[in-house]
Amino acid sequence: MSEPRTPPADADEVVAALDIGGTKTTAALVTRRGEVVDRATAATPGRAGPTAVLDTAAGLVDRLRARATGTRVRALGVGSAGVVDSRTGRVLSATDALAGWAGTDLRGGLRGLLGLPVAVVNDVHAHALGEARHGVAAGHATVLFVAVGTGIGASFVVGDAVLAGAHSAAGHAGHQPSPYAGSLPCPCGRRGHLEALASGPGLAAEYARRAGRPVDDLRAVAALAEGGDEVAGEVVRLGGTAVGSAVGGLVNVLDPHVVVVGGGVTGLGEPWWRALREAVRGEVLPGLAAVPVLAPALGADAPVVGAASLAWEVRS
Ligand SMILES: [Zn+2]
Repeated sequence: MSEPRTPPADADEVVAALDIGGTKTTAALVTRRGEVVDRATAATPGRAGPTAVLDTAAGLVDRLRARATGTRVRALGVGSAGVVDSRTGRVLSATDALAGWAGTDLRGGLRGLLGLPVAVVNDVHAHALGEARHGVAAGHATVLFVAVGTGIGASFVVGDAVLAGAHSAAGHAGHQPSPYAGSLPCPCGRRGHLEALASGPGLAAEYARRAGRPVDDLRAVAALAEGGDEVAGEVVRLGGTAVGSAVGGLVNVLDPHVVVVGGGVTGLGEPWWRALREAVRGEVLPGLAAVPVLAPALGADAPVVGAASLAWEVRS
């Protein structure tokens, strides 16, 4: 018997990936198996406009390419903040953290700067693809991913694709009505949405209302809760309950094989997770009680791993 012929012709090939967020941009080189082999991060110059943001992002990829001697970088996958049209490669809308980002030709701009084929997707979809293809949900045919952080977003991965929606806006899970949000004003301009209460800033504001004094941010609420502050403990549990109720409703609509809940707010720990799982159980139809609700496995690498997985599919 002869030894297996190795390595295959593309063994030295990787793809580049970018995670462009409101505060920082991360670039990575990623193998076909989803292994991050190098990474670099810089502050996103969000106030300086889209040209500066693209220059910074391309500069990070160039730095990694320069370090990767003997390795061919085949393509680039990008996960970006904002609503992104994967078909045209343009940003359709974005938050104030990225000035002038809406309308940016993300794909064309980066292709021009780097000379690589480029695939682009919204950052929540990138995060979901990372966990669905190489993370805790690998092997599951359908995955509901929910990210709870400064905002609340979701992504539904069906087989090899994310559900983008007719206007590339599918997944705005934070902007559904929540019975726990009353008539609180939401960042989107509507009232009573889940994000108004259960996002990081939403929970900090809820603590301030209940305690009658302001707190800096969610981290302060978490510290108070750990120190035994009763109001902070209530707010943490309320956040888990509100998200769990919404997740349970989505499970009833989508019947996913598995749910993954990620984002900074999940760092509130076991009391938040317990409230979330209890609320999911209280909301789902009897036949869906066994749908697993999992914590992510890839940590901060998930968005670049997901964006990279798209880059392997781009035709060069
Ligand atoms: Zn809203």
